[in-house]
Order: sequence, then structure tokens, then C-alpha cells
Amino acid sequence: MAGKKTVVITGGAGFLGSHLCDQFIADGLKVICVDNLITGNLNNIKHLEKNKSFEFVKHDVSKEIKLPGKVDYVMHFASPASPVDYLKYPIPTLKVGSLGTHNTLGLAKLKKARFLMASTSEVYGDPEVHPQKEDYWGHVNPVGPRGCYDEAKRFAEAIVMGYHRYHKIDTKIVRIFNTYGPRMRINDGRVVPNFIYQALHNKPITVYGKGNQTRSFCYYSDLRDGIIKLLYSDVNTPVNIGNPGEFTILEFAQLVIKMSGTKSKIVYKPLPTDDPKQRQPDISKAKKHLKWKPKVDLEQGLKETIQWFKNQ
Ligand code: NAD
Ligand code: UDP
Repeated sequence: MAGKKTVVITGGAGFLGSHLCDQFIADGLKVICVDNLITGNLNNIKHLEKNKSFEFVKHDVSKEIKLPGKVDYVMHFASPASPVDYLKYPIPTLKVGSLGTHNTLGLAKLKKARFLMASTSEVYGDPEVHPQKEDYWGHVNPVGPRGCYDEAKRFAEAIVMGYHRYHKIDTKIVRIFNTYGPRMRINDGRVVPNFIYQALHNKPITVYGKGNQTRSFCYYSDLRDGIIKLLYSDVNTPVNIGNPGEFTILEFAQLVIKMSGTKSKIVYKPLPTDDPKQRQPDISKAKKHLKWKPKVDLEQGLKETIQWFKNQ
């Protein structure tokens, strides 16, 4: 393995982390995937098991991380990400955003590695500014049910900037907007797997509230490419990566119904507390500094995702 760059990916057995593992292996790097499997799945990385450039370490990154050998990049993706998951695991979510980010930064400092942290559009909370630009400070309820995730990520961003300013670590922060695709857990509770599961089983499609809240959906491959460009860039401040195509949840439900050919009908359920009313990334910073923009539109990405769930 001499000469190969080594990347540590925390949360590498999850949806996004496992796609990053694949890309870095394809790009000729050595990958160390660190995951405690709280919301991840070994099936996501099974195909890499026998690859000599791949190593899996089962570990909770909220506890001290000890890894031998050189490390060039640390990608911190460990955290429950679906509202259903983080409402089920509020304390582990707070710990991985705070202690986990501290530990992974410590690893990057020790190894003199570059560091990238997966942040989220949730740092903007229920935004009063639309679309959201990186210089918007957000509108978050710290003591509401979503606070465990939002505030953990906001703390994480603050400690990353602290390590950048004080310890001079080369750090990056990506603010990820709703991303979907193959390897999402069918039961993770997020809107994309929920609607696809319901459609494929001719069950009612559960729209929360009136369905007039909006989200902007990014296909995993676009997100992955943007993240890798950010890693190799000289940008140290947060960057939004997402697809600006904005849809109401009702429009999204209708699209899933049309594309899956299901007999399912829409039913309305209560809107969860503090559910953001609108969300759309302003990606001018990524376009300018990373020369990145998404390529896959919602219909194309949804077609591939529905097919993947059918094959499962
Ligand atoms: P996921 O749940 O599929 O993956 C998260 C992974 O982290 C899982 O494999 C889980 O087991 C692991 N993990 C959690 N806590 C851990 C701990 N303490 N130690 C080790 N491993 C731990 O979710 P995802 O959608 O792939 O999200 C990955 C990252 O991207 C998260 O940090 C999330 O906050 C961020 N993000 C994702 C989205 C999205 O739309 N998918 C949006 C914004 C931010
Ligand atoms: N949602 C819905 N029905 C579902 C799951 C989610 O209407 O079965 C809505 C949810 O209330 C939110 C949007 O879809 O407004 C996106 O939810 P998700 O859990 O995917 O992530 P969020 O963007 O809220 O973090």
C-alpha cells in the first residue's frame, strides 16, 4: 500500500459514506471505514470486504479513535441522519456531532490529515431566508425534538472552525441538502424511501401536513462529486451542496405515484414538530469555487432509485 493516499471515512457503512468508500477505492486510495452500525448496514460495503485497499473498523467514534499508520484525509460522516433515527437516538446523535467531531479532528491533527465534515441544511433550521446561502445563520429551535441533530451539527461546525483557526488544520465543511439514492435504508423514515416503499407495496402514501412544505432533492452521485471537489479545494468555510430543484412534498408524492405506476392513494398525517416549511440551496458558492453543479434531475434519479429498491 506504500504510496497510496489513505482516507478514513466515519459512517462509511451508511448511505452516503459507502458511496464515498466506493469512489475513493475507484480513485486508487486506501479506505478505512469506521462505523458502529447504529444506522448503517454492512451490506453497503460487503462488495469491498476482500479488497486489499479497504478496511472496516467497527467503532463508536464518540469514543477515542486509535488507528495505526498514516492518514491523509479524514471524512467525518458518522451521525444518524434521518429525523426518525435521530429522534430515536437523541443522545448518540448529540455525542457523535460533538465528541465524535472532536475525536475525528484529533485524529486529523495527530496524522496531519485534511479534514472534511458532513454538515447539513438543518443548520439553517426552519429558514426565514430563501433560498439558503452559506452566510445565513439559521433559525433553529435548540430545545425542540430536532435540536439534538441541528445543534450537534452547529457545534460540529464551530469546533471544526476552531481547529482550523487555532490548530491550522486544513478543514472543509459541506452543508448537505436532502440527498437520496440507492442504499438508503427502506425503513429509515425519510420521505424518499418511505414513499417508494409505500408505492411499491400499494400502501397509502403518507404526506405529513398539507404537503406544501418544500424540499430540494439531490442525487447521491452529484453530491459525492461535489464533496470530492470540496475536499481537494482550498475552501475552508462551509459550502452548500444540493440540487436547487425545489418541490412541494405533495408534488413529490405525485411524482413517485406516476413513476412507480402504483395504485396507492395519498393520505395526510400530522406534520412533525418544527418541520422546516421550505428548503432550497443557493449553490452559487459551489459553482464559483468548485466549478460544480448537479447533473441528475429528480425524474432520472428517482427512476434509478425506484429500480434499486425493486431489486432489493
Ligand atoms: P446513514 O444513517 O445512512 O449513515 C450514517 C452512518 O453513520 C451509519 O452507517 C451509522 O451507523 C454511522 N454512525 C452513526 N453514529 C456513529 C458513531 N458514533 N460511530 C460510528 N459510526 C456512526 O445516513 P446518511 O444519509 O448516509 O448521512 C451521512 C452523513 O451525512 C451524516 O453525518 C448526516 O448528518 C449527513 N447528511 C446527510 C444528508 C442526506 O440527505 N442524506 C443530509 C444532510 C446531512
Ligand atoms: N415527509 C412526509 N411523509 C413521510 C416522510 C416525510 O410527508 O412519510 C415529509 C416531512 O414532514 C418533511 C419532508 O417530507 O417535510 C422531508 O422529510 P425527511 O424526513 O426526508 O427529511 P427532512 O428534510 O425533514 O430532514
